[in-house]
Amino acid sequence: MTIATDVEQLQGQLGDASADRLLSAVLRDLFAGRAAVVSSFGAESAVLLHLVATIDPATPVLFIDTGRHFVETLRYRDRLAALLGLSDVRTIGPTAEEIARLDADASRATWDPDGCCAFRKTRPLQRALADFDAWISGRKNFQSALRSALPAFEHDGMHVKINPLARWSAADLAAYSDRHRLPRHPLVDQGFASIGCAPCTSAVRPGEDTRAGRWRGFDKIECGIHLPLSHQPSGK
Ligand code: SF4
Repeated sequence: MTIATDVEQLQGQLGDASADRLLSAVLRDLFAGRAAVVSSFGAESAVLLHLVATIDPATPVLFIDTGRHFVETLRYRDRLAALLGLSDVRTIGPTAEEIARLDADASRATWDPDGCCAFRKTRPLQRALADFDAWISGRKNFQSALRSALPAFEHDGMHVKINPLARWSAADLAAYSDRHRLPRHPLVDQGFASIGCAPCTSAVRPGEDTRAGRWRGFDKIECGIHLPLSHQPSGK
């Protein structure tokens, strides 16, 4: 059995299941103790985290602290984790040696955002995922053209990647958030529809994709953690 075969079978079994049924199967059965959620604690993170906390609040949640986040994001992470009772939020990120060697003056985002994302996000996540067989992402089809055909299950190198909210609309997210009174990231009210690192995030104008405010001025729409391994920049 290969990862690709596993993914095909999972997609056939659960690809059309509701998010809570899918997550319940993944966390309690299929990948019990072997799956982690990866969360940016950004504009749309609360729904997935609430669904996961309802099933198992001890699920590992990986937060990549790039060292360039808004302070509001770090506070929101702590507030949301406490509110939802998430007991295993793991903050991961680049090492001090990597930062000193690869971006000592913290300017790399302005001249090489791919390289900056590679050492601040992608490599720390790859290291952390070595402890797991599957990871859960909060990506949705409506977020951008690149994400418009996400399946519930994909393979990502040696991992199964799971997108339980792929088919959710912005209205679905808003309704769920309202129903469960989930707090919003404080920057959402300032027009930030997708929130990453401070140097690479701007507010979104009416009619733009939710991710249009990320890396404005660059030909870049993904940080790299969701790209196939063969397409990820090295960031040396
Ligand atoms: S989003 Fe910007 S600051 Fe953050 S890791 Fe990527 S390039 Fe660097």
